[in-house]
Amino acid sequence: MNCPACGAPMRLESGAESLTCDYCHSVFFPEKNDDGVRVLGASADYTCPNCRIALMDASLEGTSIRYCTRCRGMLIDMEVFAALVEVVRAGQEGAEIPQAPPDPTEIDRHLSCPHCHQAMDTHYYAGPGRVILSDCERCNVNWLDHGKLMRIAHAADALRDCGDETR
Ligand SMILES: [Zn+2]
Ligand SMILES: [Zn+2]
Ligand SMILES: [Zn+2]
Repeated sequence: MNCPACGAPMRLESGAESLTCDYCHSVFFPEKNDDGVRVLGASADYTCPNCRIALMDASLEGTSIRYCTRCRGMLIDMEVFAALVEVVRAGQEGAEIPQAPPDPTEIDRHLSCPHCHQAMDTHYYAGPGRVILSDCERCNVNWLDHGKLMRIAHAADALRDCGDETR
C-alpha cells in the first residue's frame, strides 16, 4: 500500500506489524479487522486456494501470516502454528466460539498449495477443536478456512489431553 501521508509506496519490515515509508518516515499500523488480523499488503508469491486471488501479508497477534481478504482464510507456517494458537487462546479468554461439528465432506476437498501449487493434504487437526485443515509439508504451511483458528484455540477440550474422546 501507499503512505497515507505522502503517497509513496510503503515497506513492510519482515516480522513487523507496521508499514514504514522510506520517504517521509511515517510508520503506519493497519487496523485489526474482526479476525484480529492486520492486513499489511499483497504477498506476491501466494494465491488463495479457494478464491485464486493473491493472499495478503498480514499479522495476527504479532505473528506473520498470509490472509485472504475475500474468504478470510489463513495460511500459517507450521513452525509458528502451535505458539499462535496459544496466543490467540490467551488473548481472548472466555470468548464463546460456537463449536459446530466438522463437515465430513471437507475431508474430500482438494486444495492446491498457495505457494507450490501442488495438492495439499486435508485431514483432521491432531489437536483440539475437531477441525479439518489442509497442509503442505513441502512448504511447511497450514491452510485454515475462516474461523477455524478460533475454533482450535477455544475448543472446549483444549485444556485437556485431546484424543479419542467423543462428545
Ligand atoms: Zn510517506
Ligand atoms: Zn480466499
Ligand atoms: Zn506447498
